[in-house]
Amino acid sequence: MRAVVFPAPGQVEVRQVPDPTPGSSDVVIRVSRCGICGTDLHIFRDEYASRFPLIPGHECVGTVVACGGDVSDLRVGQRVAVDPNIACGACSFCRERRFNQCQRWRVLGVTEAGAFAEYLVAPARVCFPVPDAIDDAAAAWIEPLACVAHAMARLPVATTARALVFGAGPIGLLLAQALRLRGALDVTIVERRANRLALARRLGLGAVVAADDDLAARLRDQAPEGFAIVADATGVPAVIEHALAYVRPAGHYLQFGVAPRDALVRWNPYDIFRREISIIGSFALNVTVPPAIAWLERGLIQTAALTSHTVDLDGFATALEAFAAGETLKVHVQP
Ligand SMILES: [Zn+2]
Ligand SMILES: [Zn+2]
Repeated sequence: MRAVVFPAPGQVEVRQVPDPTPGSSDVVIRVSRCGICGTDLHIFRDEYASRFPLIPGHECVGTVVACGGDVSDLRVGQRVAVDPNIACGACSFCRERRFNQCQRWRVLGVTEAGAFAEYLVAPARVCFPVPDAIDDAAAAWIEPLACVAHAMARLPVATTARALVFGAGPIGLLLAQALRLRGALDVTIVERRANRLALARRLGLGAVVAADDDLAARLRDQAPEGFAIVADATGVPAVIEHALAYVRPAGHYLQFGVAPRDALVRWNPYDIFRREISIIGSFALNVTVPPAIAWLERGLIQTAALTSHTVDLDGFATALEAFAAGETLKVHVQP
């Protein structure tokens, strides 16, 4: 089969690789779509826990074309979305059902062969049937939306909460929608790029504020006491460093954006102490694929406007470059 391969950090090519064969509890999936994600870029730049060579890709939907002998819950022809995280099920974190903290954590497209390929092999237990109401274009959003659903599970959202999201990229716009869905009173979105500001306004998700010189004053106008929830969806240390200042006393800060692994920020511990700020990290997802599927099936989350480009395997390298330059929103690869 043909697949995108990162032979080494900073290198990308499309090459012929052996077709995957399923183990007894695996299925083989013909990949219909797989989204390019910020994590793929971090992997490409060797800013993540990956080994090379690697077939990347972890946000996929496809059709089962072969089942291992022990697979009884899936059948050939079934459309599935994949939770790329493969937890061991036996370590102390798995026993507490904190599978995303598994000590033997493996991830398709990160530590194992992923889905920017014609075929993917995955354990049947991480594959979820996709209802007919969710087309492939939306189904490729199930994994990122499940990460957002995990963040929502980590974050108490009061119905009086005013929320602030930094970053109107695809993930920031998903977070904003999920916060509304979870009952936040309103959401304010901060973004630097004009095209993303325009999109956030068009989606009507909440107040949209440009990240310019007037930012601090504009946010004080929006919420004089600060925001009960402030979420970072940029991963940019300079943004993160200033974000805590906008948290209301007794409020929550959510670190959702992926910052470079060695980045540091300066936060004032007295301020965190005095104003009782809760700082919450949210990593990947944890048993949150079902809510993501339910939200999409009922049309509660808009994704169509968040996919800006669709390419084939040969278009991957160019698309990754454009994605890195911030010229795209979500890019879907159709192998
Ligand atoms: Zn991702
Ligand atoms: Zn484990």
